[in-house]
Amino acid sequence: KQEGRNAYRLFSTSLDVREHRWLAMETALRNALDTGLGLNLHYQPLVARDTGRLVSIEALARWTDPSFGPVSPGDFIPLAERTGLIQPLSQLLMRTVATQLRSWLDSGLTPVPVAVNLSAQQFWHQDLIADIQALYQEYRLPAGLLSFELTESILLDKQQQAITILNALRQLGCQIAMDDFGTGYSSLSYLHQLPITTLKIDQSFVQQLGENQGSETILAAITGMAQGLKLKVVAEGVETQAQREALAKYHVDLIQGYLISRPLPADTLRARYLA
Ligand code: C2E
Ligand code: CA
Ligand code: CA
Ligand code: CA
Repeated sequence: KQEGRNAYRLFSTSLDVREHRWLAMETALRNALDTGLGLNLHYQPLVARDTGRLVSIEALARWTDPSFGPVSPGDFIPLAERTGLIQPLSQLLMRTVATQLRSWLDSGLTPVPVAVNLSAQQFWHQDLIADIQALYQEYRLPAGLLSFELTESILLDKQQQAITILNALRQLGCQIAMDDFGTGYSSLSYLHQLPITTLKIDQSFVQQLGENQGSETILAAITGMAQGLKLKVVAEGVETQAQREALAKYHVDLIQGYLISRPLPADTLRARYLA
């Protein structure tokens, strides 16, 4: 205030710059969706903690723009949600997964289920179930080859409606994982009512293994509860052999992380894991 107009103008300029950047990025994302260029998926394996056998694959969205370079999905997924682009983006990504699975099947491979992340708007979109059903039919996919990951916050205020949608997904043979488990507002009172199959422990707990007694206590509690509820447990973000070994103390079925593999382009995943 003391500096008068200049200070105000500086602040407002930097806001403009940021706003301008988002607008430019929105235009770029729109172009990418129109042309289909620069958007694709990488695939990260989930393996059995004890044997290392491939059990499932997570599809992670990737976007590289000619002027922005690689943009993190942590940025462009929320951007797509804010700008109404999430629906076309979602359809493109799901179709990409279905096409990929069909191509692996056609080459005589036996793919494992591929998990797709669902944002709030994707999960609550009225066409979700019909779209997935249509993909299964169009690409002649065996039941259960698509699975889904979502965070608890998505389900928070409309639990009964959420259960209906989750049941419809389960009826299609889809596994459903609660992503980033332990970080959100866990409503333990209704967790047992949700027709989900898997708890995916957030990587922050895995990365504090051996360093933070508190996070080990939470890990023990979550895995114990999951076992009681007959839910599969995945630990994500496993980066070191020490973390993998530490996880053996707990009831963790699957692990995922850089120790096993980074997210890979489809062909690399295929060569290393499916061939
Ligand atoms: P997420 O679903 O929790 O995905 C896990 C993130 O951790 C991914 O980041 C993955 O690349 C990264 N990761 C995997 N292993 C390790 C590890 O060992 N160490 C560390 N430090 N990180 C690891 P990514 O690909 O940048 O995705 C970020 C987030 O963006 C995802 O978090 C997910 O919430 C969202 N996202 C990604 N793809 C999609 C998509 O297709 N649809 C939707 N709705 N969201 C997506
Ligand atoms: Ca995920
Ligand atoms: Ca996660
Ligand atoms: Ca996350």
